[in-house]
Amino acid sequence: MNNNKLDPVSEGLWTRARMICISMMQGDDKRTRAERNFSMIESVSKDGDVFKIYLLNKLAADRFENEYGEELRKSFLLAGADSTLKIEITFDETAKREIIIDNSRTSAHKSPASSQTAQQAFISTMPLKEYYTFDEFVEGPSNSYVFAAAKGVAKNPGAKALNPLFIHGGTGLGKTHIMQAIGNEIRRTYPNFAVCYLTAEALLNEYVNALTQGSLPSFRERYRKIDVLLIDDIQFIAKNMQNFQEEFFNTFNALTNADKQIVLTSDVAPKDIPGIEERLISRFEGGMLQEVESPGYETRLAILKKKSESMEPPVRDATLKFIATNIKSHVRAMEGALSKVNIYANLDPEMQMTEANLAIILKDFIEKEKTRKKITIDEVKNCVCRKYGVSIGQILSPERTQSIVTPRQLAMYISRKFTTRSLPEIAKEFDKSHATIIHGVKNITNRLDVDPELKQNLEEILDELGCSAGDMVEGNM
Ligand code: ADP
Ligand code: MG
Repeated sequence: MNNNKLDPVSEGLWTRARMICISMMQGDDKRTRAERNFSMIESVSKDGDVFKIYLLNKLAADRFENEYGEELRKSFLLAGADSTLKIEITFDETAKREIIIDNSRTSAHKSPASSQTAQQAFISTMPLKEYYTFDEFVEGPSNSYVFAAAKGVAKNPGAKALNPLFIHGGTGLGKTHIMQAIGNEIRRTYPNFAVCYLTAEALLNEYVNALTQGSLPSFRERYRKIDVLLIDDIQFIAKNMQNFQEEFFNTFNALTNADKQIVLTSDVAPKDIPGIEERLISRFEGGMLQEVESPGYETRLAILKKKSESMEPPVRDATLKFIATNIKSHVRAMEGALSKVNIYANLDPEMQMTEANLAIILKDFIEKEKTRKKITIDEVKNCVCRKYGVSIGQILSPERTQSIVTPRQLAMYISRKFTTRSLPEIAKEFDKSHATIIHGVKNITNRLDVDPELKQNLEEILDELGCSAGDMVEGNM
């Protein structure tokens, strides 16, 4: 890790440039990919008029340069950088990627370390974003329990009542932020703790590598030495192999038995993770289970205020209110809208941010919101039934002939992917369990890749409902 700290001005510049660059990516897929790639940045530093961005190794740096170099340089200018500032995308040869465990830790390891010089035991498999902190997280009625539980964990990692902490809820509602805030806070207050953050997907990859290279014992040893294990998007665990669930179960038990903290996030509750083993469900539910919900107007406004604090030129209150009123589905979309407004404000400082101008600038975002609100599950059912010539009664029945199952699952798929209704609400509307809905959605997702007729039908139904494939709600599985 390169420890050169940025001064506050450069820090603000970097925050803005990164945000602008990500928001420049066209389309949700590219933006999500950019967010992921930016989170792989190991560190940044500023030396005179050179701003350095460090990645893991040469390969990663070259790829990053190819994919984002040009846009990133533009973004720095838009963010207010001097035109003499050079942006270098590079790597740090001395950085170690192993998880290093500090063996000097004594039995008094639970007392927060007071010395800044204490050796950092943390080098995680995936880096934590520095700005994902508790301070940057806005508390509101939709997340207050999660927030309290997360702070409790950070204060006293490994305490029985909060172990594991399982956070679930819709996409873009702050699960990753809060999980990384726990990691950042523990790194600060317990510098000797080995904190490890990674996605379930990354963990699975490591496991598969260990398996194929015959290095399972060291994989196990590594994970069992961790003090705080943060696994993001654990719903991914079910997509794969029994063996992996078994391995995870054992690691989970070894860690919790030794009072090591585990935090997990998922877009659904443990019992709704498709294909998950019973024994894992009961482990996941055995500590503290918390759901993040969509924030109400006041919280949305407070979040926007916070996110706009470092922006130049400052964002007017009326603009923030406009965004909070018109964009409700999730915080990530609100952030995207805010940075789009900021880009325009930078491009044309004379521009008046009237409601009419905002409506034009944010047209895409607002239309997306409208489509989401417009479609009801009843409309979806009606439309699908007409297309397939079946009745709503048949869709809601338990009948399992293929001619009924396909329209039933397709209606579930559209309800899940193109409305903002929650999984429990959809389950209720179809008179089925959550697991059945998830199974149906998954089945259609898989079939769409190989069944052109189904795809055609979907497109026609979406057309009739007044939306298109691009209106899909991000991330709902
Ligand atoms: P999830 O993991 O649930 O999909 P993220 O944690 O990635 O969501 O959050 C998406 C974005 O929204 C992040 O930039 C995060 O900082 C922001 N965000 C979400 N909720 C809040 C909140 N309550 N306060 C501040 N920022 C938030
Ligand atoms: Mg997340």
